[in-house]
Amino acid sequence: MNNYKKTIGIEVHCELKTATKMFSDSLNSYDGKENSHINAIDLAYPGTLPLINFGAVHVALKAALLLNCDINKEMVFDRKNYFYPDLPKGYQITQARKPIGTNGYVMINVDGEEKKVRIHDIHIEEDTAKSIHSGEKSYLDFNRSGVPLIEIVTEPDMHTEEEAMAYLHKLRELFIYADISDCKMEEGSMRCDVNVSVSKDDTLGVRTETKNIGSISSVGRAIKAESKRQIEVLENGESIREETRRFDEKDEVTILMRVKETGNDYRYFPEPNIPTIYLDDEDVEAARKDIPKMPDELRSEYQNLGVNENNIKTLIGNRELCNFFEKVKQSDPVITSNLLTGDILSYLNKNNLTLKDIKLTVDHIIDLVSKLKTNELSSKQVKNLLPVLMEKGGNVKTWMDTMGMVQINDESALKAMIEQVLKENKESVTDYKNGHDRALKYLMGQIMKVSKGQANPATVNRLLVDTLEHFDLNK
Ligand code: ADP
Ligand code: MG
Repeated sequence: MNNYKKTIGIEVHCELKTATKMFSDSLNSYDGKENSHINAIDLAYPGTLPLINFGAVHVALKAALLLNCDINKEMVFDRKNYFYPDLPKGYQITQARKPIGTNGYVMINVDGEEKKVRIHDIHIEEDTAKSIHSGEKSYLDFNRSGVPLIEIVTEPDMHTEEEAMAYLHKLRELFIYADISDCKMEEGSMRCDVNVSVSKDDTLGVRTETKNIGSISSVGRAIKAESKRQIEVLENGESIREETRRFDEKDEVTILMRVKETGNDYRYFPEPNIPTIYLDDEDVEAARKDIPKMPDELRSEYQNLGVNENNIKTLIGNRELCNFFEKVKQSDPVITSNLLTGDILSYLNKNNLTLKDIKLTVDHIIDLVSKLKTNELSSKQVKNLLPVLMEKGGNVKTWMDTMGMVQINDESALKAMIEQVLKENKESVTDYKNGHDRALKYLMGQIMKVSKGQANPATVNRLLVDTLEHFDLNK
């Protein structure tokens, strides 16, 4: 059974983040009631004509550039004809002859190894209405009708479940960062069809297409189930049919939906109601300029700044936090990344808030970091100030005064406190001299207590070690 090689090609549909639909000015939004963002074009009233949304073309161009595609500047659309209640026109407008992007690739990383997945093409199309089935009845919500989509088709370049999942994670990361789509598989703004074949030699086997897979991890399980089924069929001496299947999450098997239509069944032909549109270099450049720094680039930049891997992972996984970090990192990348991914993020998570909901500003962080560096504040004091700033905002210096935050840096004052604490804790001093490091922590804690948390911890630490060296237990 093991001498079969799996081959996988993936088709992904993503809904684009635009204000309005692909060919009408209805809102591209799922807020509000069913059938509230619709007009005569979305409902295909006779005599209506499509009007191109150039905002959607701009977003699709960004996606094509991110996937390293050649851009087709001569833009034409085609009709894909089929009858279904969710498609009132009786055809879908798509790009069959000249997809906006072709011959691209993305790099994925599986177990530390870089691999190229070639992109056959990326094309623009429109979404269908949403069917809602309830008991004997079916309902249609046309809010989704005409929402801009891009379809991204890979070459059959993947050979394991892990590669397929890594590809999808990469696509999501790119599209979310570049504001192309919110890529929520559970809500249907990202949907994928997985083509799988198996073969014992280098020729490609007959593939099936599995649809309606609800999450990236289910894609992995669907590939596993479908390749297992195909191998069993072949081992039984039968052959694989080109067919469309769906994945049953519960039983972890794929189930036949229909024997595959050929391209011809759709009777593709040029869309006569949209003239050829010629994109120019400025359109492409405008899209390129609108692509922000991508995760791979951020990752290596943060590594060079000395930010630790955990912080990098947290920052890149949280787009909003990462944007904030971009604004404060110059004051000190290590300290600011620790503050953001530590106290600040846990406060947000605990209270179910986002950065938009709190009063903390970029200036607060820059101010805190500079006071930390000049020893006006200890890290303990910063920790105490953060919740107040997050909740109430205001000015750092004013809060320091109100909360009585001063830092004692005066060495003779600190030395006096240290002497006093050592005299009162001779046992710990003995422990320290006998090599018990825990004693140092304990003494440190006592000194901080005596100073009401105002001693500069770094200075205390240095002075304490020094004093302990010369401390006379018999005094
Ligand atoms: P269709 O027009 O039926 O959708 P395409 O030729 O556009 O078919 O291919 C759809 C997807 O199937 C692509 O992602 C492609 O890489 C993949 N694919 C094609 N042949 C195979 C195969 N033998 N095994 C696995 N995937 C394949
Ligand atoms: Mg296809």
